[in-house]
Amino acid sequence: MDKKTECEIVQDLLISYADDVLNQSSKKMVEMHLIECEKCRKKLQEIESDLHKNEETQKKQIDYLKKLRRRSKLKAILGAALILFVIFASWYLYKFCTIYGISRKLEKQFEVENFYIENISSCDENKVAFSKTWYKNGKYKVVSYIEENGEIIQKFETKYGDFLQNSKEEFLINEEEKKAHKEKMLFKKNKSDIISQQSSFVLTWDLNNPYQYIVAKLGEPFYVRISTDHKQIGRKYYVLNFGETEKWVDIETGLLIMSFGDILGTNFYPNTNIPKQEFRSASEYHYEFGKVTDEDVQMPDLSGYEVEEFDWKEIFEN
Ligand SMILES: [Zn+2]
Repeated sequence: MDKKTECEIVQDLLISYADDVLNQSSKKMVEMHLIECEKCRKKLQEIESDLHKNEETQKKQIDYLKKLRRRSKLKAILGAALILFVIFASWYLYKFCTIYGISRKLEKQFEVENFYIENISSCDENKVAFSKTWYKNGKYKVVSYIEENGEIIQKFETKYGDFLQNSKEEFLINEEEKKAHKEKMLFKKNKSDIISQQSSFVLTWDLNNPYQYIVAKLGEPFYVRISTDHKQIGRKYYVLNFGETEKWVDIETGLLIMSFGDILGTNFYPNTNIPKQEFRSASEYHYEFGKVTDEDVQMPDLSGYEVEEFDWKEIFEN
């Protein structure tokens, strides 16, 4: 074999040699030739450097693809997170705005200095408790009693107060027995206390501490379930659920219409454990605005009354 032919044969094999895929005898033959032939050695170097370059580009390509894949994975995760966030935000905002809307309407209702609230509550199957509040320009009167089958079986002392005189003072008056309690309270009472005592609204709109108020306001949407209904009263109302309690709120006015509390007991079918009906504590509320007269909130003249003073501060200090 002349030199030139040998070179051609070896150069044909060089790529396979560089890839290390030749059989032992061909490999030996190539190596023997390379020792003697500089031209083929150079050729091998070229091939090896080409191969090396090729590997590098391939590696770069693979790296690029990997990066691309990581990025699209990240994008997918971010996308899902964004969707979840949007769903959560709309869920939260819907509730927050609904509750906020109710509070605003309610506050507007009670901006007037003249209102009457009636609260009728079931105590058990036969007894009904009434509580009626008249409020006019800082003066108020609260009358409460319990009826059984339409007859008053218990009457409580009538409560009077006058914020213009003293917002820490309240009178409990028994007009039949001509007895009166003058109570000195620990804290000042205000209009929203009167409203919330009577029409205990679910929402914490009467909290005085602004920090507590904000925390409560922001927390409300998490635990209130909100829906609407119109079955019981012929017009649409919100149904707000807080675990065991349920409150119905007039959509137009924000006023509390009904509230249902804990289950008080269960009726069973006779001689069985099959529940027939559960009864809960329940209250209904009625309102009138602008109709309270001065006489409605006028405390009786206490001359001829036995007046006892009652100071909560003294009780707490002793
Ligand atoms: Zn050669």
